[in-house]
Amino acid sequence: MRDAAPQTIRLADYTPYPFRIDHVELIFSLAPTATRVLSTLKVTPLQPGTDMRLDGEDLLLIRAAIDGAPVSVTPDATGLTVPAALLPDGPFTWECEVQIAPAENTALEGLYMSKGMYCTQCEAEGFRKITYYPDRPDVMAPFDVRILAAEDGSTPVLLSNGNPTGHGRWTDPWPKPAYLFALVAGDLVSVDDSFTTRSGRDIALRIWVRPGDEGKCAYAMDALKRSMRWDETEYGREYDLDIFQIVAVDDFNMGAMENKGLNIFNSKYVLASPETATDRDYELIEGIIAHEYFHNWTGNRITCRDWFQLCLKEGLTVFRDQQFSGDMRSHAVKRIDDVLMLRARQFREDAGPLAHPVRPEEYIEINNFYTATVYEKGAEVIGMLRTLIGPEAYRKGCDLYFERHDGQACTIEDWIAVFEDATGRDLSQFKLWYSQAGTPRLDVAEAFSDGTYTLTLRQETPDTPGQTDKAPQVIPVTVGLLGRDGRELAPSTTLELTERTQSFRFDDLPERPVPSLLRGFSAPVILRHEVSREDQLLLLAHDTDPFNKWEAGRSLAKSTLIAMVTEDTAPSEAFLDALTTVAGDASLDPAFRALALALPSEDDLAQTLHASGVTPDPDAIHAARQSLTRAIAAHAEPTLSALYDTMAVPGPYTPDAKAAGRRALRGTALRLLSERDNGDRARAQFLSADNMTEQLAAFSALLIIGQGSAAVGTFYEQWHEDRLVMDKWFALQVSLAPPEKAVRACKALAAHADFDWKNPNRFRSALGALTMNAAGFHNPSGEGYELLADWLIRLDPVNPQTAARMTTAFDSWRRYDTNRQRLIKMELERIAATPGLSRDVTEMVGRILAA
Ligand SMILES: [Zn+2]
Repeated sequence: MRDAAPQTIRLADYTPYPFRIDHVELIFSLAPTATRVLSTLKVTPLQPGTDMRLDGEDLLLIRAAIDGAPVSVTPDATGLTVPAALLPDGPFTWECEVQIAPAENTALEGLYMSKGMYCTQCEAEGFRKITYYPDRPDVMAPFDVRILAAEDGSTPVLLSNGNPTGHGRWTDPWPKPAYLFALVAGDLVSVDDSFTTRSGRDIALRIWVRPGDEGKCAYAMDALKRSMRWDETEYGREYDLDIFQIVAVDDFNMGAMENKGLNIFNSKYVLASPETATDRDYELIEGIIAHEYFHNWTGNRITCRDWFQLCLKEGLTVFRDQQFSGDMRSHAVKRIDDVLMLRARQFREDAGPLAHPVRPEEYIEINNFYTATVYEKGAEVIGMLRTLIGPEAYRKGCDLYFERHDGQACTIEDWIAVFEDATGRDLSQFKLWYSQAGTPRLDVAEAFSDGTYTLTLRQETPDTPGQTDKAPQVIPVTVGLLGRDGRELAPSTTLELTERTQSFRFDDLPERPVPSLLRGFSAPVILRHEVSREDQLLLLAHDTDPFNKWEAGRSLAKSTLIAMVTEDTAPSEAFLDALTTVAGDASLDPAFRALALALPSEDDLAQTLHASGVTPDPDAIHAARQSLTRAIAAHAEPTLSALYDTMAVPGPYTPDAKAAGRRALRGTALRLLSERDNGDRARAQFLSADNMTEQLAAFSALLIIGQGSAAVGTFYEQWHEDRLVMDKWFALQVSLAPPEKAVRACKALAAHADFDWKNPNRFRSALGALTMNAAGFHNPSGEGYELLADWLIRLDPVNPQTAARMTTAFDSWRRYDTNRQRLIKMELERIAATPGLSRDVTEMVGRILAA
């Protein structure tokens, strides 16, 4: 069905569409295998004499007409071309009717069915599977939609974008690109609320779910209202339709989608109750509801000119949702979480064959570029911009952006220009963050004499696929200076590194300071600074910057683990003492203490070893991490035991940050104590917990120490009818299995009656979980690689997007020993040689193999 020769699309080749679409009318007659879509477009030629190209895939063309007169056009594999000779020179009406089969659409792009419900996913290029249309973000038009219910009576609820104008009739007055189109039809119930905007308009809010799930929407609704208020106060953005709707869908490739006025969500990011959702689930729901809502202005009202500009909407909107979550919870904890995620996903991507700039310059399949680099690094770039120009100038620039570009499809150049105009500052060097891939390395040299401390910073960005000899970037480095007694010798200040090598002086210091560098993680770089253990302990004890306080503990844990792996040393008493002190320090936020006690992941350690020229051994890393866990548990046992008792949250469950922080610290203590009490506390907590956070913490602790078999059965009995909880049951048994049992556990669960491999959440909960079990996945026999490859080959014809995304588990293959490299390469080549492989997976495997 796909085009035979995948084409490379290039940013440099952009040309505007030669027609304007003034209005779109769509009429849907729903039927599972024969849905009819009649589209009527009002078109104005901008360059008369040009052929009209419309995108379309997997469509059965019934008829087409121009100004009411039938025309004969022959579709090809990717669309159809209406020859200029058939087109009037002035405005005309294009009409076409197609037939599609949503029940047969397993790729979950375009119009598809999820357990009897019709729904759509059109970003990036799904609309072309609904009708012939210029499916590109720079073509924006107002839409009128009419949905005729399925004849089988299965679709009493008929939803689309905009405001309702009758049963199954919707009008969206705001011009939008086709990727923001949405349709949902099915047997749904709504939870209703309302919101009054700051100008006094009443907005109807509706969350649509399957009957039975109504009781799990309260938190999402609350998060939505807080998001709407926050966008008004922090960015001056008010909602612009009479109604805002969210639909929860079980079968969904992504997290959620910001369709205008009708957001569609993976049900795991909407539905929550204390019994079934963890604190982490609540936090994700809050963040993702906010993210999709914020897109209404950053993405929808102002959209991207082309898909190369994806970071224009995603980087900015991720940054906005991070600010929001920080305001709702704790900025320090949120920052640490975000950096953990950035390092785990984006730094890894940047260090491997899939490295690409925040704004890529070419792609074969745009679905492969919804990456950590575009999203997370894209958000870091906005954060740096705000740090460099200050919060007031940042707000001024944003205001100008909304004022100048409302209703337009824009580029990164447009975005940068508003800040240049608002501040008078030249941001051309800053723009390199969008075009240069790779994580900059920052080397640090220090000198001190006569009260003057000199800090010399040198930046270097490694080569990445297709890019060498990179120019120096603008790097904001926030610095504090501490004295030997731990007090601040100079206030926090942000240095602007713009040269390859640059020195900064601090005068009139009473003593040689201990620098606290890159406070708040002020730039997404790798700091290479030799710090003595003594200084790290001082920063861990005294740094007033919470991020760097955490970072000091992290660095100590990492160097301890690396030494355990490479030199077989034991962890130092000083480190264990310091960690115990932090754990028991009642002046610190419990959520922060939980993060301080968490050890670097096995993948993080592998990445670090590889960067320092050592071939990582996944088994040795796993063993070291386990042995350090036991050492901490033994050393801190009295403190942990006290924490386990004092951090208990009295009263009924509430998902607020304070209670969640206490549960996080208590869960961490439980995990460590399980190494000491053979799981006694965990077994008791597993049975008595009245919320999923505590039940899952106990379940996880038991699985890690190999005492989980009884709990596995009990948990299944208790929850087998709840699909979202069952995803957790699948995932934990694989991700927490002892390495030698992980592949077997994954195979057994993939054969389980409840394993629905066509559901992306369930597929990820078994196969994705295997890739999370680093030592299990990298079993030297290669059976982990083989199992994943088998499943990706099977999934590809059904859902290429999800299959392609999961190939990234192989992207670190060059890190490992020759035996593992050979085994992974063999599997990648086996995937690549599969007949009829999708363009998504072909591109990904090709890029990974090219390493
Ligand atoms: Zn987004």
